[in-house]
Amino acid sequence: MRTLITGGTIVTAEGSYVADVLVDGETIAQVGTNLGAGGVSADEVIDAAGKYVIPGAIDVHTHMELPFGGTFAKDTFETGTRAAAFGGTTTIVDFAVQSKGKSLREGLDAWHAKAEGNAVVDYGFHMIMSDVNDASLAEMDALVAEGVPDFKLFTAYPGVFYSDDGAIFRAMQRTARNGGLIMMHAENGMAIDVVAADETDAGHTDPYYHGVARKPIFEGEATNRVIRLAEAAGVPVYIVHLSATDALDEVRAARDRGAMAFAETCPQYLFLSLDDLGNGFEGAKFVCSPPLRPRSHWPELWKGLVKDDLQVVSTDHCPFDFHGQKELGRGDFRKIPNGLPGVEDRVDLLHDGGVVGGHFTRERWVELISAAPAKLFGLYPRKGAVAVGSDADLVVYDPAARHTISAQTHHMDVDYSCYEGREVVGRSDVVLSRGAVVVRDGQFSGRKGWGRFLKRGTADFARLS
Ligand SMILES: [Zn+2]
Repeated sequence: MRTLITGGTIVTAEGSYVADVLVDGETIAQVGTNLGAGGVSADEVIDAAGKYVIPGAIDVHTHMELPFGGTFAKDTFETGTRAAAFGGTTTIVDFAVQSKGKSLREGLDAWHAKAEGNAVVDYGFHMIMSDVNDASLAEMDALVAEGVPDFKLFTAYPGVFYSDDGAIFRAMQRTARNGGLIMMHAENGMAIDVVAADETDAGHTDPYYHGVARKPIFEGEATNRVIRLAEAAGVPVYIVHLSATDALDEVRAARDRGAMAFAETCPQYLFLSLDDLGNGFEGAKFVCSPPLRPRSHWPELWKGLVKDDLQVVSTDHCPFDFHGQKELGRGDFRKIPNGLPGVEDRVDLLHDGGVVGGHFTRERWVELISAAPAKLFGLYPRKGAVAVGSDADLVVYDPAARHTISAQTHHMDVDYSCYEGREVVGRSDVVLSRGAVVVRDGQFSGRKGWGRFLKRGTADFARLS
């Protein structure tokens, strides 16, 4: 099967130009001008005149079917990757979870079982470590060799995912040697639990106080601490879902002194705020950790994206229905499952807010949503590029199309949208996963099980400074 995409503006992290793209089977076979007129034949021709042709977007932070707070994130690998594809995302990297007292292997096997035969686009895994001990440390090297080279640890959630500094440092030392990458959820969970208990004791049980208790300074402190530990261990560290200027200042200072420190933010920290957590229990729809911050944090986060102190925008997609799931926390915000839906909306929100909004170029947009995550997470140039030999994960993107985000029309399996009623400029018209059209003009044409496990390389890009 050969597909020729004609006349589009190829937009990559490096630049933009008008060209045709020939897809042969699952990979890109040629990129050049007037391939069609030059006699190249194809089974199907897609006219992309007036549109962008971008590498499929990569979301390196999703939680399909994550068990949390006595329930499960609602999207499966099938529904979640299908929604991702509608939004122009053709690769996800999800978090497999090691449970306390269990091996990494058991956790990874469980996530393979959830994804295999179900995902509609390609996927990889990071490994969440909840129990650092001699056995799990030894397992880390094997996972790197199997294409799971990143390990996420938490300074938050005491009693669940939390690791103390000694455990974190041991995992860092091991990863410094095995070529992997350390990912950190950096909030001071011990201090947060003290403030959260004080608030509920004072009768402050609404979702708003979730945002109050998890202070920005707790994120700043933990971010500094884990970066310093990583510097001592000589390992690259990637701060997940950075939300606050307090944390950004620490990443910026670390990068200025030459540390291998990286960070992502998420659309919810750029477009939503602490105000959304108000409005009584409705605010539960917006409960995630770190929490939404006051709007005053927005301008610095946008600046961080422009100046490369933040390298990636991911979603932390972790959807819970308002009815029946978020409601578990009525009367005590600490019992609200933490997480928001977002895997479908990221590409359009960043195009609308970032490119149309005048914060950065369309090339930087592609870098943040595709090229940079591909590099940092061992997928480049197989993914994240429009180049000969790369996987034909391509999106024909209409930069002028307008649509309104709504739970009525989205494809995520969740009963609300955080962006209900927001109009955005830009939309994916045709989405290809390894050469196969999976979405065209709002219709799904892919299939369950098409997505394959991606064995990823070591974090070499994160070791270059
Ligand atoms: Zn997460």
